[in-house]
Amino acid sequence: MSGADETPVLIVGAGPVGLALAADLGRRGIDCTLVEQSDGTIYHPRANTVNSRTMEFCRRWGIAEEVRQAGTPPDFPLDIIFCTALNGYMLARVERPTYGGHKPLATTPERSQRCNQLFFDPLMRKLASSFRGVRLRYRCRFESFAETADGVDCRVHDLANDRRETIKARFLVACCAGRSSVPQALGVRWEGQPILSYHLNAFLKIKELWTRHNKGKAAFYFFVDEAGLGPSLIELDGNELWRFGVSTGQRLIAPDNANIPALIEKFLGSDIPYELLSVLAWTCRSIVADTWRRGSVFLAGDAVHQHSPSGGFGMNTGLGDAVDLSWKLAAALDGWGGPALLDSYEAERRPVAGRIVREATEGQAPLADAAALALINAPNSAGDRARGTVGEEILRERTKVFVSDGLVLGYRYEASPIIVPDGTPAPAESVSRYTPTARPGSRAPHAWLNDGRSTLDLFDDGFVLLAFNGAAGDASPVVAAAGSRNVPLTLVPLDDPAIAALYERRLVLVRPDGHVCWRDNAAPQDPLALIDRVRGAVH
Ligand SMILES: Cc1cc2nc3c(=O)[nH]c(=O)nc-3n(C[C@H](O)[C@H](O)[C@H](O)COP(=O)(O)OP(=O)(O)OC[C@H]3O[C@@H](n4cnc5c(N)ncnc54)[C@H](O)[C@@H]3O)c2cc1C
Repeated sequence: MSGADETPVLIVGAGPVGLALAADLGRRGIDCTLVEQSDGTIYHPRANTVNSRTMEFCRRWGIAEEVRQAGTPPDFPLDIIFCTALNGYMLARVERPTYGGHKPLATTPERSQRCNQLFFDPLMRKLASSFRGVRLRYRCRFESFAETADGVDCRVHDLANDRRETIKARFLVACCAGRSSVPQALGVRWEGQPILSYHLNAFLKIKELWTRHNKGKAAFYFFVDEAGLGPSLIELDGNELWRFGVSTGQRLIAPDNANIPALIEKFLGSDIPYELLSVLAWTCRSIVADTWRRGSVFLAGDAVHQHSPSGGFGMNTGLGDAVDLSWKLAAALDGWGGPALLDSYEAERRPVAGRIVREATEGQAPLADAAALALINAPNSAGDRARGTVGEEILRERTKVFVSDGLVLGYRYEASPIIVPDGTPAPAESVSRYTPTARPGSRAPHAWLNDGRSTLDLFDDGFVLLAFNGAAGDASPVVAAAGSRNVPLTLVPLDDPAIAALYERRLVLVRPDGHVCWRDNAAPQDPLALIDRVRGAVH
């Protein structure tokens, strides 16, 4: 055994969440070590949707263009097709513009992008490893930890050299998707349904698949048979890589026992030349952990929330956890963050994850009209009517999950100890509709500045105090209070009337993660109390 290594933050797991946390800490000048038991090779495609909030993070990290280049090509149709088989009956088609064909959006500078983890995780790895203070240790398994007076002693197994070591860390963050000992050791209990259904995914290579059927190019094909909504086929690179997914219901079937060829023949066609690259068995859950932190130990990503991939929220929610936690750990290590700052991580993120898990689970109910389903493949007018009925139900009930701006951009931190409410009512909650608002707790809204940047580009390292309509002079007590507590804060005067109207107050304080934490028309009577509240020094 070697002597104890030391690091301010030890991260377990180099999935997208652990890598994002390492990168965001690295950007903030915080050293960290990440241990990952595998060698980092990705054998199977999981998340495809990099939603617009995650793309906004990527923009901040300077990799948004790389993500766009790595994902689905800009001219590939993003349509969603529901049919009985590729050469069967069409039931419903949702036409969506290609990435290249979209007009700019008013609500975000970054539209969502399809970029599978096959391509996204390596970009995050490259980003994390670009920071000198970030140490990535692949083939190194985390085994156990013991809390100490000033942090955590972590036992890891260097698999490459078969050597056990202790790493002393001030903070431990488990981004290991619930498969390591950390959640158990913290006594985490899961709220929700641990098993909704079992699934198998086949990773396929099929060249020019669209030339072999009559449904045309689309990003998603969902297949419906007499049993209801069944397998799906999802494009991964706009070329030859596909993911074919099937639910095995309440039966757990090992990949070796699955008759994937029979399913491919039934839904894709008998003469499709495909190469089977890998098969993954996975379990659909609907759970949120009841504990996200104990002392110096934190959990993030799939280690605290797991749900159906429908809607494409899982990875994106985990990246939201990483971005929320990163600046708080940095503030604690830099000495200006108070104890409530670390408490606020769970207070802010657990309700957000709870809502997303609920919404992702709601889309799981079976199709309702059993009589219509029974006739879904009938080659007669009764079959035509049945297909019309099922198609209508699909369009009414099953496509909401593809428009989720209200969840993606409209999430907010209501009961946070470090947000100062301003008494205004919250906008109505909606999955699909996002109402831009600078109400405290919300993501500071996007607007284009005169110089071509987004307002979001202003929020980066420290706090930003936006001063509208000549309010910069009124801001000085807040700036001085921040200075006296060593809180990094930049004053940004803005004189754009449209942006002033959007933000609704003359002074708006935005946190390092881009969320508004206070706003008013004048400096508060006690500016030190405000700064102490937002830096977590007051409970
Ligand atoms: C079929 C499918 C489709 C999906 N589609 C989407 C989608 O479209 N959009 C979306 O946002 N999400 C989607 N998801 C969910 C998404 O894949 C996960 O939410 C995401 O990968 C979670 O990231 P993570 O970093 O928390 O965990 P993971 O990606 O699971 O990474 C955890 C890492 O921890 C490592 N680890 C575990 N234990 C240890 C240990 N003891 N020591 C060292 N390392 C350890 C593991 O090896 C692993 O690399 C999908 C999931 C599935 C299964």
